[in-house]
Amino acid sequence: MNKIAVYGKGGIGKSTVSANLSAALAQAGVRVLQIGCDPKHDSTRLLTHGRRITTVLDYTRVTGHADRRLEDVLFPGYAGVGCVEAGGPKPGVGCAGRGIITAFELLERFHAEDDYDAVIYDVLGDVVCGGFAVPIRREYANLILIVTSGEFMALYAANNILRGIRNYDGEKRRVAGIVFNRRDIAGEDGRVARFAEAAGLPVCAVVPRSGVFARCEAENRTVVEAGYELAGIFRDLARALTEGISLYEAAPLTDDDLEHAVFGPDRPAAPEPAAALPPVRRPAGPAAESTRAAAAEELVSVNILYDDPLHGCAFNGAVGTGVHLTDAVILAHSPQSCAYISYQTISSAGRRGLFERGALLPNSVSPNLECSFMDENDVIFGGADKLEAKVLEIKKKRPRAIVVVTSCPSGIIGDDVSRVLRHAEPDLPIIAVRADGNLSGDYLQGMLEMYVSLAREIIKRDIAPMPDTVNIVFEKVAAKSTGPNFKIVEEFLHRLGLRVNCRFLCETTFDRLRDFLAAPLNLLASDDYTGRLLRRFFTDEYGCVFLDGGFPVGFDETKEWLLKVADFFGRRGAAECLIREQESGYRRRVEALRPALRGRKLMIVTFNHNVDWILRVALDAGMEIVKLGILRFSQDAGFVTRLGAPLNVEENYDDAGRGADTLKYRPDVLLTNYNSADEPAGVLADTIPMCPDAGFYSGLNMVSRWAALLEKNLRGEWMDDKKFVDKYYA
Ligand code: SF4
Repeated sequence: MNKIAVYGKGGIGKSTVSANLSAALAQAGVRVLQIGCDPKHDSTRLLTHGRRITTVLDYTRVTGHADRRLEDVLFPGYAGVGCVEAGGPKPGVGCAGRGIITAFELLERFHAEDDYDAVIYDVLGDVVCGGFAVPIRREYANLILIVTSGEFMALYAANNILRGIRNYDGEKRRVAGIVFNRRDIAGEDGRVARFAEAAGLPVCAVVPRSGVFARCEAENRTVVEAGYELAGIFRDLARALTEGISLYEAAPLTDDDLEHAVFGPDRPAAPEPAAALPPVRRPAGPAAESTRAAAAEELVSVNILYDDPLHGCAFNGAVGTGVHLTDAVILAHSPQSCAYISYQTISSAGRRGLFERGALLPNSVSPNLECSFMDENDVIFGGADKLEAKVLEIKKKRPRAIVVVTSCPSGIIGDDVSRVLRHAEPDLPIIAVRADGNLSGDYLQGMLEMYVSLAREIIKRDIAPMPDTVNIVFEKVAAKSTGPNFKIVEEFLHRLGLRVNCRFLCETTFDRLRDFLAAPLNLLASDDYTGRLLRRFFTDEYGCVFLDGGFPVGFDETKEWLLKVADFFGRRGAAECLIREQESGYRRRVEALRPALRGRKLMIVTFNHNVDWILRVALDAGMEIVKLGILRFSQDAGFVTRLGAPLNVEENYDDAGRGADTLKYRPDVLLTNYNSADEPAGVLADTIPMCPDAGFYSGLNMVSRWAALLEKNLRGEWMDDKKFVDKYYA
C-alpha cells in the first residue's frame, strides 16, 4: 500500500494538491483514504463538496472511549475517497501536535487504513514539534511529497521538512520529490530547480498558477472531478505513484547552501552590516562557575545548580509544601495521576507517623488537595476552561484561599492560569504557582516556588510586632522527625516564656502566614542549602532577623542555641536553669554507658556533614573513632566539627571504600545512612538519620542503643528482635 505524506508550508496549496491527487487515484480505481492533519481541518473540503465533517478530535472530546466508532469520523467523498480530518485546538491554546498523535491513535485503533489501497496524509509542513512530525514516521508514510513554490519561506519550510525526515531516516530513501506549485514570482523556476538539484530531488509535478483552481474551489470540487485539462498533471502523478516511483534520501541543505540555492545569481545586494558589537567581557575563571554563582543568587534548587540527579518534581514539591497552608485549598492543575502521586506522598507521612508512634505527625493524612483532572482533551484543546470551572466550584466551599499549582502537562501546553485570578475576592485570594512539574525542576525547586509565591502574596508588611514570639522557618515536612522536633523546640521556647507565631510552612494558617512579620526572631529548622536560600530571601526582602544555624542537635549545640535565643529576648536566666537541669542527667547517663562502650571502635560513613552530636557522646562514653567517611551531599558544604579532637576524616569519601575500611579497622559499631547487605559479621550496624532528632539527647539515645546491644552481644540479629526494636526505635 502506498502511504503518501504530502508536506508543505501552511498556505502553499498542499490541500489542493492532496485532494486532486486523491481524486486522480480514485478515478484510476485506487481506493484512497485522505487524512487531513492540519488543525484548520479543510483538507478534504473539495472531496466532500464543501461539507464540514466532524473532526476526530472534536469527536473524541465528547465521546467516551467505549462509544467511539470509525464511521463517525470517516466520511465518503468524491469517487469513494475516504475523508478524515484530525482537527485541533483554537490557535494559541492547547497542543495541536498532541492532537495529531491522538487522532492517529484512534485511526490505528480502528484499523482505518485496512479497506484502502492508498492513504494520503495532508500535513502542515511547519514541523514545529514531534506531533506534527508523526506522519513522517516510517510506520505511517512510506512515500513523501513536498509541495513548494519558489518563495524563500516555502523553500525554507521544504528544507526543514527534509531535516525532519533525515532525523527519522538517515540515508534511507523515502522522498519521491517536489511538487512545484507556481506563484509566478520573478526567477521562481530557477530557484526551485536549483533547490531541487542541490537537495538531489526530482520535480515530480509542476502545477501552474491558474484561475481554474479558484473556480473549482468556489464550486467545492477538485480540478480532477471537474475534468479541466489541468487534471492531467495529477493523473500523471497518480500514474507515476501507482506504477512505482523512484525514491530518494532526504539531504537537507545548510542555511548558507539554501540561500545560495534559492537566490543564486539573482541574489540582491546585502545591506551594509551594522557596526560590530563590542566583544562581551567575561569575568575571569571557569565559565560554569560564574554561571553557577549567578544562578545561586536566584532561588534555584542546589540539584539543578550542580546538575545532580533531580529527586521528584517541582509540582510534587510545591503541592507537598502548599498543603501545609491548612485552611487553603491547593488546586493541582494536572492530570489525576500527578495529584494522586502527591496525595500519596503527603498522606503516607501521616500514616507512617500513626503507625510508628501511635500519634499523628503534623502531616495531613487527608491533604487539602483538589485537582482539575486534566485529560488528553485538555492537553490538546487547553485546560484553562476546566480549571476555571474547578475554581468556581471550590469557591462555594469558602476556603481561606485557593492556590493553583501547574504541572508538566499544563506547563507544556502553556495554559493561561492567570485567567482564574479574576475570580479572587478580598477574603478569598487566588494564588498561582507555576511549578510546571519537571520543567521547573525537582522537588526542592517546587518547595522554593511555593514558599516564595505564598510569602509574596500573603505576608503583610505593615503589621504590629508581637513580642516574645518567634517564627520557625523550613521544617522538612516529609521527615519523620519533624513533629517530635517541633515539640522539643516548642517546649524549650515555653521554658523561656516564648511562643511560636508562624511555622513557615508547616501546619500553618493563612492568617498566621499573613502576620509572619510580627515575630521579632526567626529560627531556621534546617540549616542546609535550601534553608539558607530561604533565610536570604526573608532577610533581603523583609529585613527579617534570623538566629544562626538550624534546630540544635546534641547536647553542646542545644546548650548554645538555648543561650542565644534567651539572650535575644533577655532571658538568659531561664536558659541557664534549663541547661543545669539537663546537664546532670546527661552526665549520669553517659557515665552509665562507659562500661559497655569504653574502647569500642566506631566507624561512620555518612552524608551528614556535622556529626558532632554523635561524636561528643561516643567520645564521652570512651569509644574510639576509627574512621569518619564523609560522602558528598549537595545540600551541605563540607565537613564541620568543633570538637578539637584528632579525627581520621576522609571527605568526598567513596562509598565503595566502605567494605575495605570495615575490614581494615574492624569497628564494633558501623554507623551509616544506609545499611549494606555486605556488612561483615560481628559488626553492629546502625543507621544515622538524614534529619536527626533535635535537642539534648539525640546523640545519647543512639549511643545508649549501642551499649544495650553490645552488652547483650546482639549485633546483626537485633533487627529481628521485635521487643528490642520497639524499645529503642519506638
Ligand atoms: S513529573 Fe510532571 S507528569 Fe510527573 S508527576 Fe510531576 S508534574 Fe506530573
